[in-house]
Amino acid sequence: MKNGRTTYDVLVIGAGPIGLACGIEARRRNISHLIVEKGCLVNSIYHYPTNMTFFSTSDRLEIGNVPFISHGNKPTRREALEYYRRVAGSWKLNIRTYERVMDVTGEFSNFRVVTEKDSYKAKVVIVATGYYDNPNMLDIPGEELSKVRHYYDGPHPYANRKVAVIGAANSAVDVALELYRVEADVTMIIRESELWEGIKYWVKPDIENRIKEGSIMAYFNSEVTRIAENMIEVKTPKGMITLDNDYVMAMTGYHFDFYFLTKIGVRLNDDQYRTPVCDSETYETNRKGIFLAGVVCGGMETSKLFIENSREHAMKIFDSIEKI
Ligand code: FAD
Repeated sequence: MKNGRTTYDVLVIGAGPIGLACGIEARRRNISHLIVEKGCLVNSIYHYPTNMTFFSTSDRLEIGNVPFISHGNKPTRREALEYYRRVAGSWKLNIRTYERVMDVTGEFSNFRVVTEKDSYKAKVVIVATGYYDNPNMLDIPGEELSKVRHYYDGPHPYANRKVAVIGAANSAVDVALELYRVEADVTMIIRESELWEGIKYWVKPDIENRIKEGSIMAYFNSEVTRIAENMIEVKTPKGMITLDNDYVMAMTGYHFDFYFLTKIGVRLNDDQYRTPVCDSETYETNRKGIFLAGVVCGGMETSKLFIENSREHAMKIFDSIEKI
């Protein structure tokens, strides 16, 4: 299988839920496949906050007709990890983990997919690389300090510390509430005039009430402009202020890997979301034989595509692969 002896019909880059859905579709249609993943299976979900609960119900995260039974109303990260492991096993998906894809050379029906360890031949390539690897940076002085975090694991290390949470969407709100519950001194810094309208409806009253009663401080229409070891500087509508600070949780979202896509020849549209060029029906990019699947298709707009509405990409892509 190694060093280019086998040509796979389809090589999928990324073993997230949608990359797995593509592998399943290949199995269903008797098309040979290989999935190459730079981290562990469903690497993005593995790196979500430890106590995270999905906003989708489990049936909407199912792929390959494998039932996903969760113990609560909404599944947890831990249940999702167990579920996708079971899916990969029951469909006998051909996956190589811990092998980052660096480049895709060649052309349709004769691609060479170059990884950090090896290279593989494939007729068709599907890029299902998601967006979770690349945080949106603040681009302000002090962001390089180790106290600034773009990923959140769990609350314990922040107990009784002064933490600024930047952002107004679900991740920021979840982090602020969890930290508040371990007695951290939490301040939210929010660029907009209010919290994001898409906050999970069962969480919204909690955060609104904590802000109203003052147990979580919130500065709206405000931005952090500088971070130092023991303080942050914040531009508020009433002027510049400084706050004592131990940690900054920058929950400012993530973006797809522009560099990788452009390196392999996928063009980006000139719109505000830099969406990759890809046919809305077939998901083929401007480079013949290279398809996009999953949330990477949305470009910078990360609040439109999810597992629940992008798992259908796999079937559409394979319908069009079978026609070429
Ligand atoms: P990903 O799951 O991100 O998978 C991409 C994979 O590609 C990763 O494993 C990555 O390691 C790998 N990869 C990247 N680059 C390379 C490379 N060069 N070589 C090899 N491998 C590579 N969606 C829902 O539908 N419901 C929810 O409730 C929900 N909750 C969420 C909560 C949080 C905190 C976050 C951040 C997202 C949530 N989402 C939810 C969105 C959901 O996680 C994503 O929609 C889903 O992970 C996208 O699947 P994907 O397969 O497209 O991408």
